[in-house]
Amino acid sequence: TEEMLRRTEKLAIVGQLAAGVTHEIRNPLTALKGFLKLISTSDNPQKFIDIMENELNRIEAVTNEMLLLAKPRARNFRMIDMKQRLIEVIQLLSTEAIMRSVEIVFSADNNVHSVECDASDMEQLFINVVRNAIDATPDSGKIVIESTQQEDEIVVRVRDSGIGIPGDVVKRLGTPFYTTKEHGTGLGLMICQKIIAQHGGRLAIDSEVGQGTTVTIALPCRQSVEGSA
Ligand code: ADP
Repeated sequence: TEEMLRRTEKLAIVGQLAAGVTHEIRNPLTALKGFLKLISTSDNPQKFIDIMENELNRIEAVTNEMLLLAKPRARNFRMIDMKQRLIEVIQLLSTEAIMRSVEIVFSADNNVHSVECDASDMEQLFINVVRNAIDATPDSGKIVIESTQQEDEIVVRVRDSGIGIPGDVVKRLGTPFYTTKEHGTGLGLMICQKIIAQHGGRLAIDSEVGQGTTVTIALPCRQSVEGSA
């Protein structure tokens, strides 16, 4: 039956996640043990200490993000001004953008952008998406964020003029641990998908290699009973 299929799928995903976490943590652990041995015999241990700190940060990032995915958190759904939230997220990321001289332009229509949602989920969601856009954009590039109210939805588009994503890779996005970044975890988009699903929304990624990527997020203004489950 459909229900059994869903459960089988879920178990497969749990297995995939467990294998992924093990792999992601075992590699830096193996490296740490190796460096620990080297340190005790080296006359210049400082350089190993820096690498070890990097590896520890990696384990920390993976475990923190796994917790975000796994931990059931009491959600606090209330009406939120999405324009205000987006401006706050842009401010939060402005130092990262300035360091790379990436310009972030925000625009919104004149409608009221009230959305019934969990505020910290929204912050997490848009931080992940905008940070990905910053990471992908070359120095001195531009990111355009547009928010519009369409019928009973708020639609937010984050468009970068970055490296883009090849078509076969777009299909893999949101599967755990797929990352092209040196310090990436490949969990960011999974977290986004989870948050959007919990709000009854939709996520779409349009990308062209060398041209850039547009991430579109649609969220219902009001939660139906099913949508908030
Ligand atoms: P992470 O940022 O840790 O790599 P994500 O799940 O957020 O994890 O992203 C997975 C991968 O998707 C990234 O490593 C990158 O290759 C690709 N990606 C996501 N957003 C963009 C974007 N705007 N432009 C180009 N590639 C992107």
